[in-house]
Amino acid sequence: MTGDVEAWVAAFRPRAEAAGISRATLDMALNGVALRPDVVEKDRNQTEFTRTIWDYLDKAVSDDRIAAGRKALKAQAHVLDRIEARYGVDRQVLLAIWGLESSYGVVRGDVPTVAALVTLASATRRGAYFERELLAALRILQEGDVTGAAMMGSWAGAMGHTQFMPSSYLALAVDFDSDGRRDIWSDEPGDALASTAAFLARYGWRKGEPWGVEVTLPLGFDYRLSGERIHHAAAEWQAMGVKQAGGGALPDCGPSSVLLPGGARGAAFLICPNFHVIEHYNPADAYVIAVGHLSDRIMGGGPILGDWPRGLRALTLDERIALQHGLTLAGFNAGGADGRIGPLTQAAIRAFQASIGVVPDGYASLDVLGRLP
Ligand code: CA
Repeated sequence: MTGDVEAWVAAFRPRAEAAGISRATLDMALNGVALRPDVVEKDRNQTEFTRTIWDYLDKAVSDDRIAAGRKALKAQAHVLDRIEARYGVDRQVLLAIWGLESSYGVVRGDVPTVAALVTLASATRRGAYFERELLAALRILQEGDVTGAAMMGSWAGAMGHTQFMPSSYLALAVDFDSDGRRDIWSDEPGDALASTAAFLARYGWRKGEPWGVEVTLPLGFDYRLSGERIHHAAAEWQAMGVKQAGGGALPDCGPSSVLLPGGARGAAFLICPNFHVIEHYNPADAYVIAVGHLSDRIMGGGPILGDWPRGLRALTLDERIALQHGLTLAGFNAGGADGRIGPLTQAAIRAFQASIGVVPDGYASLDVLGRLP
């Protein structure tokens, strides 16, 4: 394995030099770098790793994490005031991302970033993507914001309190405390939180608007209107009988969609443009809902009121691929068969369900799989 990585590094060095990384930086960062078998292992298992939305939320928005978030809201009030004023990003979403990514800085990751990225670039399917991130990491070292020894993070190359990838760091990290370094790794979270605010501002965060709200749907709701590809104004949803689950008017946040992350038998949400801003951090519905819900809970909001179909299990990767193949065979465009159930696959499920006369909620279930060719 060592021989392999040495050959890979030797071939990589001229590409890095052509991209502007100095020999001194390459020597310092790459001499003696070793593959990390644990990183290869985690990368392989990640796609197999599936949970239902309710299992994910139970863990991601636990009582402990809510309580720690409320503590952090007080402890960081001063820096959050200034970040909110400068970037126009609400404090609760920053706290929620911080909570999910590193348990508010407690678990920032102890894998050396360069070793993780060399491993991922040289020994995985997504080598080209990780080579770009490796080049970004080397540029960060070259610019002197952090030392190689201090540049640590997750097995996937994400770094610091809010788990920035190196390319996002280069594009958007800020030196908020003006000490001359953009330091997202240190115990002090100010630079990391401000960098996250800069990231969300860059993708269009709308201050004072929610990410979404839990809603109830009227009897006889047309489930073909669910999914993030269908947009209506709050007044239009209201006229159809969609109500905020806790009472009160629907938020008027412009074009919004009804999302059913657990299908028709699970909780329903009306999602606002800020939902799609959080998607830039991580596009999984479960992640975005967890960030949004945790942000609400930190500010004193209550739990999700709707039930989940807890008797259902998550589909395995093979089953999700079989589902996409089946949809394609049946004439519905699932957008390929990569095992990722995104908006296109959900829309295809909805169309298939409507064609056979079952509730078209777009939920990838064993029932749908069983009815496909
Ligand atoms: Ca700084």
